[in-house]
Amino acid sequence: MTTLRLEGVSKAYDETVALESVDLTVRDGEFFTLVGPSGCGKTTTLRTIAGFEEPSAGSVRFDGREMAGVAPENRNVGVVFQSYALFPHMSVAENVSYGLRFRDPPDGTTVDERIAELLALVDLEGMGERSPDQLSGGQQQRVALARALAPAPDLLLLDEPMSALDAQLRESLRRQIARIQSELDITTVYVTHDQAEALAVSDRLAVMRDGRVEQVGQPEAIYRTPSTRFVAEFVGDNNVFDATVRSNDRDGARVVVDCEAFDIPALPDGSERATVCVRPGALSRTADCNRICVAVETTEFLGETVRVHGRWNGRAITLRLEDVPDGDELAVGFSPEDVHVVAPQ
Ligand code: ATP
Repeated sequence: MTTLRLEGVSKAYDETVALESVDLTVRDGEFFTLVGPSGCGKTTTLRTIAGFEEPSAGSVRFDGREMAGVAPENRNVGVVFQSYALFPHMSVAENVSYGLRFRDPPDGTTVDERIAELLALVDLEGMGERSPDQLSGGQQQRVALARALAPAPDLLLLDEPMSALDAQLRESLRRQIARIQSELDITTVYVTHDQAEALAVSDRLAVMRDGRVEQVGQPEAIYRTPSTRFVAEFVGDNNVFDATVRSNDRDGARVVVDCEAFDIPALPDGSERATVCVRPGALSRTADCNRICVAVETTEFLGETVRVHGRWNGRAITLRLEDVPDGDELAVGFSPEDVHVVAPQ
């Protein structure tokens, strides 16, 4: 069990600032995800934790132990990358045992016992003699996971391990990874650009943007109470508007967007502007306040629900309804308690 702490970690490559003063704490046994758009610094953070990159400033600590100058092979971390990176000329068993080149198997087990144990863990029992090209993409990635776990690492680092797989395989591997992580109780840092995946698997996640951490929290908190406009727009569908405050007291505020007034929860005293966020599911045909008229543009049938993209006063609006709307106009409303407000930028 290991706690990981990053303090003021920055990393620059020539003119590119990849990380700027990143502070993060990953707790013992936690499944912690770094999520954000391409180029925001997720992989650089992971590589810095693994020791493949030295930070330009700041410190990385495992259980309080400073890692500066500690080589990757001495950090006892298991890493799984985007590409399977299995050795094609080695069997599955040989690939897994390669994970033990720097360390003996734990608890006095033999190498063969350890390989069998790991193949069972990743549901590949009896496949040790196969060569990687006789496995599916999902199976290859499970071998890579077994190899990373072979020396019983203190930390497991996963860099977009599913990005080469199709949607169905991704979901099944994601569940397997979550099960294995919780079975082993191993502190895990997982990198993905897929916010839905991040919400689904993580104990907590950090949303990153331009080399910085924008918000850290549990999935539900990140989804329901994003602290910035960026997080509100990046995580899940959202309708986000800048509004001017017309009145505000402890019972609630009235704000104006494009000359139309809306009732929202009370704002901090003295607020003049507010950024108002309304999730698609909060917009309903039956709500009797905060009514708007949406011009329907496209609908996507999702099975349980229908996602509708439309426009209100030229602004893009997303709705989530139970059935496909008829007609090309839709009147919907939202109640003040379904509004989340973030500070204006
Ligand atoms: P992606 O999701 O596309 O993999 P990311 O969030 O993992 O992106 P990083 O790969 O960490 O982002 O890159 C962060 C920034 O640092 C980017 O602007 C990238 O171009 C830059 N960068 C990363 N590695 C290097 C390098 N070796 N040399 C120069 N710039 C680099």
